[in-house]
Amino acid sequence: MTKKIVLILLGPPGSGKGTQAKQLCHHYSLPHLSTGDLLREEINQKTVIGLEAKELIQKGLLVPDAIVMKILWERLSKKDCAQGFLLDGFPRTVHQAESLLKEQKENEQLIVLSLEVPNEEIVKRAVGRLICSTCGAIFHTTYSPSTLNTECDRCEGGKLYQRADDKEEVIRERLRVYDQQTAPLIHFYDEKKVLKKFDGSVSPQVLFGKLCDYIDSIRLSSE
Ligand code: AMP
Repeated sequence: MTKKIVLILLGPPGSGKGTQAKQLCHHYSLPHLSTGDLLREEINQKTVIGLEAKELIQKGLLVPDAIVMKILWERLSKKDCAQGFLLDGFPRTVHQAESLLKEQKENEQLIVLSLEVPNEEIVKRAVGRLICSTCGAIFHTTYSPSTLNTECDRCEGGKLYQRADDKEEVIRERLRVYDQQTAPLIHFYDEKKVLKKFDGSVSPQVLFGKLCDYIDSIRLSSE
């Protein structure tokens, strides 16, 4: 029986997780579970969770494990996750990773992809990142600008905005938090022999090809 695929994208903020996640989900027909997006939804809906999360996110700090896990577990219980899913931005602490492991079923195949990008490159990428407020497409003022400048050329008209947590001082704080709280997960998953490191400084297309080759090879060898 083919195992249900659980993909985890690890990597510092701005390492290209979001871009790769979208393409991988499309390619493998998996739901894209981004805890950052789930939290931003809570913020937009002005829920109690959203109010608490907003302040922390704006400071570049992590939202408490219990809150993130509550919204993620809820999302994981939906039907579309039955055949597998991709996690983008989760886990971010060893405690989150341990909790996820406890939830893991026998018929699930865990594949952790770690995107490695030097910090200075991350800062350059993040401060130029723009997102479409309508369709969520991701642009970069230097590397992949929209042909419509401040509007989206994919959905033709959505306004582009910079996430508040992509400002340089916030990005540097997020990198510090990543090194301190999330980077230990590389060792955590490495020890469990489910992690593969990728050079995230190559072009998104090249990286996508490498990620797919690796996922396909794992899937083949486990059949
Ligand atoms: P992201 O969109 O993944 O970059 O997440 C944006 C922000 O949401 C992060 O900087 C954190 O403040 C918060 N966040 C997202 N995922 C998590 C998580 N798994 N644990 C704690 N905080 C999170």
